[in-house]
Amino acid sequence: MALSTEQRLDQAGMRRIILPMQSDNPALQHVNAWLADENILFDTGKDDTGTRRVWDELDCTQSLTGVYCTHAHADHVGLAHHFEQAHRLPIYVSDAEMDIARTAFALTPSDAALLRQGFLREMGAHRSGASPSRPLGGRATIPTAHHRPLLEGARLGVGGREWLVRLGGGHSVAPALFLDEKHGLLITGDQILPEMTPYVGLAIDAPDADPLGRMLDFLRSWADVDSAIIALPGHGAPFQNVGDRITGHLASYERRLNRAWQAADVPITGAGLLSALFRVNSGQQVLDIHYAMAAALLNHLVATGRMQKWRDEDGAFQYQRV
Ligand SMILES: [Zn+2]
Repeated sequence: MALSTEQRLDQAGMRRIILPMQSDNPALQHVNAWLADENILFDTGKDDTGTRRVWDELDCTQSLTGVYCTHAHADHVGLAHHFEQAHRLPIYVSDAEMDIARTAFALTPSDAALLRQGFLREMGAHRSGASPSRPLGGRATIPTAHHRPLLEGARLGVGGREWLVRLGGGHSVAPALFLDEKHGLLITGDQILPEMTPYVGLAIDAPDADPLGRMLDFLRSWADVDSAIIALPGHGAPFQNVGDRITGHLASYERRLNRAWQAADVPITGAGLLSALFRVNSGQQVLDIHYAMAAALLNHLVATGRMQKWRDEDGAFQYQRV
């Protein structure tokens, strides 16, 4: 009889640790950490009292020999500095991820506010009738740990097991995925998720980047992955048929790109596009991440020649489909 996913994970020495998280999104009420052979930890959860309590009660930290982080968002790498300082553990993250986190943490609040205002102005969010935006809240920046870099193609031999490191991009700048070919396991972080399309938003300090292009390239390059592999995601339950999820993600981004393209038959700002993309009413408050998602779609349409953009006299970008 075929083994269930739980039995296969058990046999492969993998344990899912569900850590608390609050969000408006029902699919984001927790974040996963993955424990391999009781000594290697992938991701840490947020730096808050609820998460620290889970780790204290689990008491697995004594046997740990290293912490590997998929990417440097606060819900995944938030407690890395704690594991490093309190438990003297080496922390592994890609350099590009840690650079971004370090830069964000070093910004003064007023510099961060200026960056944000500049981004929202370019999106036209300050105009009357536009949806006013508010930051996501919570602690977005985190103290960073002294880390060791994860490199593309590296093979980590730990505890008789080998993990192949693959760097992706799109959800964040250079997230790591970890593939255990022998046991058929793939730690996906937030690059491939079971219940939601991964967030892809423009980082306000990289206004001309094309993170969605990076995500689409990444997903296409993984489309043929073995369907028997068990994906261990950053949020949600383990899943198989990774290729089907990738097909779903690609279709979802393509639908959003199409909606943005359709709505820009006349010149329109990023703020003007929000109602077409997210069904928000004019004037209704949104989160910065909505503007960041809209900007990622627009930048990708511009990068692929489907949209043109120019700055108007008020400092906002106008977009129109080609
Ligand atoms: Zn996450």
